[in-house]
Amino acid sequence: MDSTGLVLLSAALGLIVGAGFVVLLNLASGRGSHAASVASSGVPDGVRHMLDALESPAVVLDASNNVAAASPAAYAAALVWDDRLVHAELAGLVDDVRSGGETLTRELELARGPLGHGSVILHARAAGLGSRYVLLLADDRTESVRLDEVRRDFIANISHELKTPIASLALLSEAIEGSAADPERVRRFAEHLADETQRLKRITEDVIELSRLQSANALTDPSRVDVAAVVAAAIEANGVAASARNISLVAGRIPETAVYGVERVLVAAVHNLIVNAIQHSPDDSRVGIGVKAADGAIEIAVTDQGEGIPEHEHSRIFERFYRVDPARSRQTGGTGLGLSIVKHAVQEHGGQVSVWSKPGEGSTFTIRLPLAAAAPRPAATVIEGDA
Ligand code: ADP
Repeated sequence: MDSTGLVLLSAALGLIVGAGFVVLLNLASGRGSHAASVASSGVPDGVRHMLDALESPAVVLDASNNVAAASPAAYAAALVWDDRLVHAELAGLVDDVRSGGETLTRELELARGPLGHGSVILHARAAGLGSRYVLLLADDRTESVRLDEVRRDFIANISHELKTPIASLALLSEAIEGSAADPERVRRFAEHLADETQRLKRITEDVIELSRLQSANALTDPSRVDVAAVVAAAIEANGVAASARNISLVAGRIPETAVYGVERVLVAAVHNLIVNAIQHSPDDSRVGIGVKAADGAIEIAVTDQGEGIPEHEHSRIFERFYRVDPARSRQTGGTGLGLSIVKHAVQEHGGQVSVWSKPGEGSTFTIRLPLAAAAPRPAATVIEGDA
């Protein structure tokens, strides 16, 4: 519940204590009345209606801490079980309000539900409701706390990733300055400078791409996208890198299919898989790109004959900045964001990416996307006079 909700409820509390239930009934009138409250005497109907109307967990407790009424969300969040509060911490908060007489707010991390799988972070607020009852409001902050952590981690990771190339740029420019009399050294340092600048550019571009994909409405102007065109563009963009190491990019027959989405984003996803396949392939090998339609979906698989990835790393490689071999990734110019971008790009298109890989045998990364509905028949094919 946001602060407006709390203010609203605090106001409602005042009204209850002052004996007016009209506002509460109005509040509740916009919703169907689910029988959320438990059987108990003495809780006015207005309060029950108010609880029915609330989207967040709210519980009214009597003097023995029995649940006199509760909102549907309180049951859904498993805060209430068998007419009692599940968590001793919440019961403790209610007891403290009863003994101290003041409204109290606490941030609590509690086991999720009576069976306690995982935890939930609750912003809990309790206030006296007349002389008999205590109203407990709970706001589930688990997701927002998790998102905050993810954001903090991401910023810490980016800072760490940027530190090295930025420090290198500073050192190299100093070195160039101090080598004015030695053109050969200047040339060598300038080359390093260009490499580090490229690395910074790649990291920045990948970070921007990933943030774009993670923002709301990441796919602007989606349309029907020809899958063969996506695969062809991704292969073409990797042609030079592959032939430099005599790696052949082999695509099978591509069925005529379309998906709904943004071509640039889809090309980037397939491109990243081919980049990785080339980087992890031995010279003179082959990278296969296969496309097949199955069960209303299209699968694009990129297979290499490289060193493969140990099974325990399979779930981690899609995390931002995660590399199985960080030194090698840096050496080959990797940003550690390629697969993360693939994952988000594909998810934004309603699909998923999976990996099969065996050390010593190679890897296959498969993107699965829902097929676009068949295009409507063009008007020109309608025969005049046909019914
Ligand atoms: P990077 O920029 O390091 O390639 P990615 O997010 O694209 O970052 O990949 C994460 C890690 O997954 C890589 O560092 C590498 O260890 C592993 N990886 C990705 N693709 C392959 C592949 N085709 N073969 C072997 N390892 C791979």
